[in-house]
Amino acid sequence: MNSSEPTSLFVVPTPIGNLEDITLRALHILKSVNLILAEDTRKSGILTKHYEIDKPLNSFHIFNEHQKVAGLIKRMKDGETMALVSDAGTPGISDPGFLLVRACLSEGLKIECLPGPTAFVPALVKSGFPTDRFVFEGFLPHKKGKHTLLKKLAEEERTIVLYESPHRLEKTLEQMIEFFGEQRLVSVSRELTKVHEETFTGPLTEVLAHFHKEKVRGEIVIVIDGKKE
Ligand code: SAM
Repeated sequence: MNSSEPTSLFVVPTPIGNLEDITLRALHILKSVNLILAEDTRKSGILTKHYEIDKPLNSFHIFNEHQKVAGLIKRMKDGETMALVSDAGTPGISDPGFLLVRACLSEGLKIECLPGPTAFVPALVKSGFPTDRFVFEGFLPHKKGKHTLLKKLAEEERTIVLYESPHRLEKTLEQMIEFFGEQRLVSVSRELTKVHEETFTGPLTEVLAHFHKEKVRGEIVIVIDGKKE
């Protein structure tokens, strides 16, 4: 594959809240492809309507991606160009994308992934913890394996980044105290780029007390300071 070949699939990051967080190039691509593959066509429809993008939206999510990949590859081989978007942020980051990207690569189809919004980067940078090396763990397992993973992560010396749902935050912070100790520093970012954006950073017990006060709402990134010698 060389750079003069036409691109079949563009992976296009979209805003994680604030609709202005989209690049000029992302808008240009979304206006120029034949088809937009969207995790939720209704949600992506809000974005395309806002930016007057008049391209067909086709659903592509975790429940249909396995069935759809072969058909999409065939259409791309026939010359159609596509953009993959998810509900928010960068497709493939705790979102569908990996299967389609892998299939394109193994079929020799050219892909481009645009740089753009993703939730873990602003949360990591706002935490004030070291950013030179970090591990991204995505969502922790809900039940099986959660304790084992937390035990392992308690020994990690690099900064750790996790995605978590608001209704599991308290329980996860309690479990972290068990393995990381009360004084380990943690930073919780909620509703990044949105009206109620909040980042609370401190020892685990203080962060737990802060979020214990009222029902936690919105989207959450947890950043944990790495183990210090
Ligand atoms: N593809 C997305 C990305 O690039 O960040 C992640 C999608 S994943 C299904 C959704 C999770 O991302 C949420 O549960 C939350 O942990 C995190 N997230 C997304 N938007 C966020 C925001 N505005 N503030 C904080 N966390 C956010």
